[in-house]
Amino acid sequence: MRLAATTLCEDAGVTALPETLTQDLHGLYRHLHAHPELSMQESATATLIEERMSALGWATFRCGGTGVVAVLENGPGPVVGFRADTDGLPVREATGLDYASTATGTLADGSRVPVMHACGHDTHITAAIGAASLLVDSRAAWRGTVVMVFQPGEETAAGARAMLADGLWDRAPRPEVMYAQHLSNELTGTIRLSSGPAMAMADALEVTVHGTGGHASRPADTIDPVLLASHMVVRLQGIVSREVPAQEAAVVSVATIHAGLKENIIPAEAVFTLNVRSLDQGVRERVLAAVRRVLSAEAAASGAPEPEVRELYTFPLLTNDPDETARVTEVLGAALGEERVGPRPAQMGSEDFGALPDALGIPGVYWFFGGLPQEVLDAPEPTPSNHSPHFAPVLEPTLSTAVTAAYEVIRSRLA
Ligand SMILES: [Zn+2]
Ligand SMILES: [Zn+2]
Repeated sequence: MRLAATTLCEDAGVTALPETLTQDLHGLYRHLHAHPELSMQESATATLIEERMSALGWATFRCGGTGVVAVLENGPGPVVGFRADTDGLPVREATGLDYASTATGTLADGSRVPVMHACGHDTHITAAIGAASLLVDSRAAWRGTVVMVFQPGEETAAGARAMLADGLWDRAPRPEVMYAQHLSNELTGTIRLSSGPAMAMADALEVTVHGTGGHASRPADTIDPVLLASHMVVRLQGIVSREVPAQEAAVVSVATIHAGLKENIIPAEAVFTLNVRSLDQGVRERVLAAVRRVLSAEAAASGAPEPEVRELYTFPLLTNDPDETARVTEVLGAALGEERVGPRPAQMGSEDFGALPDALGIPGVYWFFGGLPQEVLDAPEPTPSNHSPHFAPVLEPTLSTAVTAAYEVIRSRLA
């Protein structure tokens, strides 16, 4: 027998949860929103998650520092995994909400920064706890095990790796399928998901260009790293347009560049960072090889030494298993209304969720739920996106949709 934990209120087109749960989740969300923590520093958030999940009767343990794993065993049956990421961002909130964050944190370089849940990970935690509550309430109607992974450090690609390195899949029951969801700046109450590649691989590199410094009036006595770095930046832009087949997707962006201190001194070095995105391993390798070739050859062309290239981070490809995506789309359509669920093209943004199912070789599916009302989408100003200081999701029907989606999809795989 199947318990219907959620019902559709047709007038409002809104998914209704039990009123006490809704009120509780709204309070939880506002608290999380006002108390964001930086990547891999989510201590208070982890403690709160442990308290909430323990109170619901889930067994919890810490994994990967500030990661929390919660397990609900309910007899023999399938093991289903669900992941919610927990970190905030170094952004000064400018939403004007009465529960806006005034929190601060310290980055790895020691700088003190404002912190905001600007990517909506507070909605992910809230929705996972809401779904956990519904799973407990309906436990007489299903059999199996649910593993909820509250993952830290998504924004820095450190969290999934840290949990895996800390023995996540040796310590938790191993799921046969895994799901995750993310808030987007699309219409609240809607869900969008890709089939196949969903989020790009990312490689971030820091390049240090070595020259020979000297007086700006005597450039012939120098090897000018500013001119050399400029050639590199321009030449790198030829990779996607000239070396990647037009049917394939790739991005090469140079987003920072620093050199020199004074207008009459040619510096000894220049440093820039670049970001490479791709949806295919072959394309990725081709682009990265081309980047290194261009950097070496441009340095040689200037008579400069080989530049130093440091890898800052790597995000894996996030692939939505096509069969499981089709099934999830049906489940979501039945639960929320087919008109509220639709396809989405692959994004060149990145996400480390894929590392968790990939480590077990199991299918994963990751979907986006919208958070903005129609009037914000229709406004003449650009729509605030994730990571914007103005990104302010409305509570409803955003949260009820996310709770329902998580619960219904997990529930659909249990016995
Ligand atoms: Zn983000
Ligand atoms: Zn995010």
